[in-house]
This record gives sequence, structure tokens and C-alpha cells, in this order.
Amino acid sequence: MKFNTKTIHGGQKPDPAYGAVMPPIYQTSTYVQTTPGGHKGFAYSRSHNPTRQALENAFASLENGAFGLAFGSGMAAIDAVMKILKPGDEVICTNDLYGGTYRLFTKIFEGFGIKFHFVDMQKASNIEGFINEQTKLIWVETPTNPMLNIIDIVAIAKIAKQHIVLLAVDNTFATPYLQQPLDLGADIVMHSATKYLGGHSDLVMGALIVKDKALADQLYFIQNASGAICGPQDAFLALRGIKTLHVRMQRHCENGKAVAEFLNTHPKVEKVYWPGFENHPNHDIAKAQMSGFGGMVSFVAKGNNYDEAIKFVENLKVFTLAESLGGVESLCGHPASMTHASIPKEEREKIGVVDSLIRLSVGIEDEADLIKDLSQALG
Ligand code: PLP
Repeated sequence: MKFNTKTIHGGQKPDPAYGAVMPPIYQTSTYVQTTPGGHKGFAYSRSHNPTRQALENAFASLENGAFGLAFGSGMAAIDAVMKILKPGDEVICTNDLYGGTYRLFTKIFEGFGIKFHFVDMQKASNIEGFINEQTKLIWVETPTNPMLNIIDIVAIAKIAKQHIVLLAVDNTFATPYLQQPLDLGADIVMHSATKYLGGHSDLVMGALIVKDKALADQLYFIQNASGAICGPQDAFLALRGIKTLHVRMQRHCENGKAVAEFLNTHPKVEKVYWPGFENHPNHDIAKAQMSGFGGMVSFVAKGNNYDEAIKFVENLKVFTLAESLGGVESLCGHPASMTHASIPKEEREKIGVVDSLIRLSVGIEDEADLIKDLSQALG
């Protein structure tokens, strides 16, 4: 099945009870048993729920995986992966990570005796010096949030395989429409489904997708034991959102390109970060591993002035100043004071998250309105 068909039919079949084409919202915590253990595969909704299961099958199908797991948030999905580890284990991760991921690693899992190495992975071989007997996991985010660096998944996967280390990729920004990490050698794909998969800014959810049965069993055990599942109503909304993923992503990519090109020639703009530019440092890798460049664009205004950046985001009228990304509506954020505020200023600035950096999640509105809005706010 081709991707555009999978978004609509992947892992889906009409509901066996009444033939409903859309999976019903099984809003139930429990299921009848005719005798202890005598049920139809569903005993308790933390363990299994038909609506969630339909979504988990859809996740697996989209990423060319064999098993999908749905969580109550992207962070809950990352937390589940980290629970595979034991005290003394080490993780090598991208240095330019979503702030919440950085916070989970450094403020929670470091306290449990897990060591994290934050490494610039734009050159894959940079990770080699950090691999030792204790290394159990490599955590990659690509494109990175908010600098839009691209990490070569194939090259990192090759090193991970050589050293028998698991490779997990946060595929939130790219979505499976643009990039399929399992096919590139990753063991685990993670999503904040809150973003493009859900696509309508109406839910908070996480996803994990794997090919390997033993790894799936381990993650399912953690999902069930820790219980950070999503509810059936949100599972239904995500299933509905996924049905238009391909159409939305196509427009996100077109509008992202138009916005990046507009900003790139604007006299008040110092630098635009968008992997579609030929002079982007990782453009060739982006071209090789992604089928488009996405709808995320970051930029820095001339002068790097904090107050000017705040004034700019306050002046936008079509772009909404808000946390999050990946919805149909255009959003804008100021990472230094919002998504990345949990990263110390010196650390932030080392990776380019300066005071005037603005991150845009370019939506699927009319391109002309978006450019007019940016133009008036810059003015
Ligand atoms: N990963 C990335 C790249 C994100 O942007 C986010 C949230 O912004 C997360 C993970 C966390 O996901 P959630 O907010 O659904 O917990």
C-alpha cells in the first residue's frame, strides 16, 4: 500500500461489532468476562482498548513498523523508552533537543543513575568517542527543534549496529510522510502525536513504533505497568487526524518553503534556518533521507534584540503565539522564553537558541496571508 492510502486505511478494518467504518470510541474501563479470563481479548483499558489498538495499528502502518504503542503524551512515550535502561547505562543524544526531552533526561533520569552525553551529531562520527560498554541507547531528533539541523540516520544507525546499541529517532518534525526512520536503520521511532499526526491542536499524545517483537513486548510491558496510555476519545481524534496527514503535509511543505524564501530575502532578517536551502549545512542529508523539507522554519532578526523579538511575536495576527506546532493553523514561538526556557541560557546559546530566535510552525492557510502577516509584523 502506498503512503497516501495507508494514512486512510493502514492497520484499519471496519469495526467487527456493527461494521462502523470509523473505529468507535470505546469509552470503557473494563470488559465483561464470562468466566475468569474468558473475554474477547480486552480485559482492562490500561492494558488494551479497541480504539487505542486501532490507532496503534495505524501508527505501525505509517512508519513501516510491526508494532505501535500510544501514550498520553510525547513525553510519556520518551519516558517509556528510558525505562528500558538501568542505573549505570549511558545514552548518547542529539545536543539540540526539544527542551522537555532535555529536562526529562537531565532532571529525572540522571537522578536514577543514567548518564547522558549531548553530542552534535551533524557529523555522525562525533558519537564514536562517547560509545563504551555502558552505552545502551542513541537518541536522535531530526530535524532538530528549533534549529532544524538534520542528522544522518543511516550513518548513525550503522555505528549503533556496530556497537549493538539501540537507536531511537524522534520523528515528530518530519512525520512518516517525509521520513521513515525504521527503514533507515532505527530501532524505535517516537512521535509527539500532539503535533502533525493529530494535526489539529486538539489533543496531547505520544507514539512509539518498532519492528522487533522482543522490543515491542518490553515497551508494551512498560506501557501497561506504568500506565501512561492515551484515552479512547483522543485515540479517535488522532485516527481522524491521520487520515489527512499526507494532504496536510504537502501544504505544510509548500507554505514552509514560501515563508522560508520570503524571510531569507527580508532586510530585517539575519538568518533563516530551513533544511530546504541549498546552503543549509545538512541540505544533502535532508534531500537524501526526507521527501520534503517540512513546515518548520526558524529565524533570527538582525540585531538579536530580545525586546524586538517579543514585539514581533506580539504583532503577528494570522500566526498565533503559542507553544506546540504541527497543527493546521500557523503558530509562532519564542524558544528562549517558551519551549526551551528549561535549558540554561549558556547551553541554549551554544546550540544557536539566541534571544531573538523565532520558530514558526507554518500552517496550511493561504500562503499570501501568511507572508502579509510576517511582513507587517517585521515592519
Ligand atoms: N519531541 C518533540 C520534537 C517535541 O517538539 C515535543 C513537544 O513539543 C515533544 C517531543 C514532547 O511531546 P508532548 O508535548 O506531546 O509531550
